[in-house]
Parts: sequence; C-alpha cells; structure tokens
Amino acid sequence: MAKKADYRKIQNAKFYSPETLADCVRLTKKTIFSHIEKRLPADRQVKPYLIYGNEAKEYYRNMYEITVTKTSKDQVICQGCRNIFHLRSIDVECILTGKYYTETKAQIRVAGQCPRCQRTFSRFKSIQTGKGI
Ligand SMILES: [Zn+2]
Repeated sequence: MAKKADYRKIQNAKFYSPETLADCVRLTKKTIFSHIEKRLPADRQVKPYLIYGNEAKEYYRNMYEITVTKTSKDQVICQGCRNIFHLRSIDVECILTGKYYTETKAQIRVAGQCPRCQRTFSRFKSIQTGKGI
C-alpha cells in the first residue's frame, strides 16, 4: 500500500529540494523523484532540483482530491430480499476509510438502505483519487 504524502506540512513560500521535501511529507526521495516524473513542478535547471512549496502543495492536493469514477460495479445485492439495485439510484453515505490500495486508489465505505426492504448494507469500494496521473 502506497504511503500518502503528508502535504499539509509543506510551507507555501519555501523552496524544497527533493530530499527536504521527502522529509517534510514523510516519503522517500525516490518517491519524490517519481512524482517529479509525474509532473510535480520542479526547477530542473539546478542541482538539487528546487520545488516550490506552493506548487508542491497544489500538486498533492490535486492528487488526493476525491473524484468518484464511473464504474459498472455500482450494483448491490440486498442480503435480505435479494433485490439488486444501483448505488446511484438511492441515497448512500460514502466515508473515506483512510486506507489506500495504491497511491491513487482510496478505499471508501458506502452505506445505505435497500429501497425495497429497508435493510441496511455497507460495502467497501475503491475510488480513484488522482487526476492527471
Ligand atoms: Zn432488501
């Protein structure tokens, strides 16, 4: 499971090297370099690369911003009455569990009620959290 960058600690008006940024967000330097490859803005004219705090924060905020994807796996079978219904056809509660399958795939718990027999259900699902990756 990939670790999430602790990007709230990044200071907006500060320049970071890959190493100091790695320390700050508690990831490895290698991971920071892979993020630079994936368009984390960095000044590559200098060694070590310079990353502006404000831009890094923006990058991680976008990376972890929740965007629910369209999926065909939105059907739920009620354990009570065997009714098959669509998650999008009813009111559900989506809770981020804080777990990540991968860097861009977060786990959520979806909870709701069967529209026919009112039995409650809860399912774990994954959602894409990245954009532009
Ligand atoms: Zn039911």
